[in-house]
Amino acid sequence: MQVLKFGGTSVANAENINRVVAIVKESVAKGKTAIVVSALGGITDLLLEAASQAAEGTETYREKLVLIEQRHLDAVKLLIPVVQQSKYLSLVKKSCNEIEDICNGIFLLRELTPRSKDRIASYGEWLSSQIIAAKFIAEGLNVQWKDSRELIITNSSFTAAEVFFGETNKNINAYFASSDASLYILPGFIAADNSGITTTLGRGGSDFSAAIIAAAVKASVLEIWTDVSGMMTADPRLTNNARIIPHISYQEAMELSHFGAKVIYPPTIQPVMGKGIPVWIKNTFVPADKGTLIEAVVSEKDGDIVRGISSINNIVLISLEGSGMIGIPGFSKRLFEALSSEKINVILITQSSSEHSICVGIDAVWAEKAKQAVDSAFANEIALEKVEPLRIETELSIVALVGENMKSHTGVSGRMFSAMGKNGVNVRAIAQGSSEKNISAVIATKDVRKAINVLHEEFFETTYKQVNLFITGTGNVGAKLLAQLQQQLEFLKTFALADKYCRA
Ligand code: ADP
Ligand code: ASP
Ligand code: MG
Repeated sequence: MQVLKFGGTSVANAENINRVVAIVKESVAKGKTAIVVSALGGITDLLLEAASQAAEGTETYREKLVLIEQRHLDAVKLLIPVVQQSKYLSLVKKSCNEIEDICNGIFLLRELTPRSKDRIASYGEWLSSQIIAAKFIAEGLNVQWKDSRELIITNSSFTAAEVFFGETNKNINAYFASSDASLYILPGFIAADNSGITTTLGRGGSDFSAAIIAAAVKASVLEIWTDVSGMMTADPRLTNNARIIPHISYQEAMELSHFGAKVIYPPTIQPVMGKGIPVWIKNTFVPADKGTLIEAVVSEKDGDIVRGISSINNIVLISLEGSGMIGIPGFSKRLFEALSSEKINVILITQSSSEHSICVGIDAVWAEKAKQAVDSAFANEIALEKVEPLRIETELSIVALVGENMKSHTGVSGRMFSAMGKNGVNVRAIAQGSSEKNISAVIATKDVRKAINVLHEEFFETTYKQVNLFITGTGNVGAKLLAQLQQQLEFLKTFALADKYCRA
């Protein structure tokens, strides 16, 4: 079986869904296919914004609900033949009434729990998958729609639930073994806990839903269809020169996504990597583009020293410092225990060799909780002035270079820091994994765009220097010069390249 996932932009409206239909029909012609879909682009945001406004007592949530209903009604009217429309129009109306009832409840109570957030958000994928299934039925395909909440079982950590793989894999295998269709359609992002209460896998989680299904059925391929032609050397919104990475290993893709490459939701790679399932990132709007292939090993010869650059914003750096820490074992253990007791995820760690300080990068939303937890864990040492109260630096980001080839090349970090230094980007902390797949630096958020561009130029762009030459008149001398430049073109290019590799 092949598993294909279509993201929000790919299913944003009827026009885009028609592109999806063409792509899926080609897959179905090759064999059994399951597709996992996101909500129509922007709908999850609208649903959650409506819920938040209701909780704040702002009545404008009703305008958002009207917009949500209209988007879905438009999709039904444009995609489904008139004779089959009424069933789906009333399905949309009924769901939108339910959403309104829930929002009214939130408005009256002025209370929005993570559990209600998941319930509200779930309507996005539920509706999109129903409408897309209806479209395929209308096209005459042998289709089955299945609610992912009956297959993917999680704990009750609403808004970011953790999957129980044992139960989930059993459910998925039993379902596909017992039903016979050529095309299966499932909503991404949503799941349920053991009591059947709706949970979600975290924002962007439809990629993960698709990977869970692909891994359970040992699919021949997982295709992530999105709005760019593959995984790129950097976020295309931050640099104009980003280019597609044709081939990347699971480890590298995982590292890039963990460090902010939004094109793949971070937990997606793990389940398919375990089963060796190839993953393609493809562009719904330019299906002929080759895309990116993610698989186990990528030959060292294949590609650059650095595979990609990514960044994460909203980072704070917390530092525990003090002379009382020197040589005494257990300080870091206590620091990390304090953080983990609050379920605070650590993104980056550095410790100076003098053991005078430990620096940890965490998401800014946890700053206050981290301060309370760590200061209370070290209350004695702080009172005795052996340790300073936890120091917090804000408005920081992490930029990371990722690539398995980095370990066999010396001087990569030197080039990274000298390029940033020459361009006035101050580095606050550095971390390099022992596997050398990743070198990360903490910098000020205001410097991220500059840093990404500088690093991209250093590691991915040719070292050709552009020189603007203005010649007045092309008489004897000018014409000769132009002819000479033309003649030397190849030599000059080779020279520039040779220079690049010497420096590498
Ligand atoms: P979907 O809705 O299809 O899941 P997303 O918006 O989640 O799509 O992810 C695709 C977007 O990820 C692209 O439009 C692009 O702006 C962004 N992006 C960030 N980093 C990268 C990267 N390294 N390569 C490709 N896209 C990236
Ligand atoms: N619709 C959800 C979101 O916007 C999940 C997804 O699209 O992957 O986060
Ligand atoms: Mg996504």
